[in-house]
Amino acid sequence: MRVLIVEDNIEIARQIQAVLLEHSYVVDLAQDGREGKFLGESEPYDAVILDLGLPQLDGLSVLRQWRQDGHTMPVLILTARDAWTDKVDGLNAGADDYLVKPFVMAELLARINALVRRTQGRASATIVVGDMQLDTVTQSVSLAGSPVRLTAMEYGLLAYLAHHAGRPVSKTELTEHLYDQDFDRDSNTLEVLVARLRKKLGDDKIETLRGQGYRLVLPIPNVA
Ligand code: CA
Repeated sequence: MRVLIVEDNIEIARQIQAVLLEHSYVVDLAQDGREGKFLGESEPYDAVILDLGLPQLDGLSVLRQWRQDGHTMPVLILTARDAWTDKVDGLNAGADDYLVKPFVMAELLARINALVRRTQGRASATIVVGDMQLDTVTQSVSLAGSPVRLTAMEYGLLAYLAHHAGRPVSKTELTEHLYDQDFDRDSNTLEVLVARLRKKLGDDKIETLRGQGYRLVLPIPNVA
């Protein structure tokens, strides 16, 4: 899952980035409204954390412009304490959630997890696909009840496929959601990751669909 942080306070931005990276998110950072607006328009983010007080272009204007142009990614706004009208204006402008500064990183992470989950139509933090279970809070995976050890990148790939289980996900889409903007997109890292996942989960979980990408296979329901 790929998240955009638009925050001019570099210390806060780095803290948020560190927490998200620890939890297998991929993060892009913009330090002013203009750059943030541009990135939000051009890259497919799974969530955006948008500070409202920004140089060049304020956060509310950025958000309004995105929504006006049809960009529907979930946006969590960061507002200053004592500026309660910001929350109202932000929600009215199309924000999905807000946090008041200063906030606790654990709460921010929980809210981002929940936003991503809700956007994908999922109420529970656990994803079950056949005998495989992903806990998106602890980022742990089990197969038929036994824990499977995955690297952060392996987990990130599996989680993205699991969020979209049953449908083909193209390599382009995976690359866009699993790597930040500085990533060398011509590399074969994706193939290597899929191969490693197959080794750990068994060959039958992830299908390669010629010309379409990969699909996490849904179990065939038993017909009585
Ligand atoms: Ca600010």
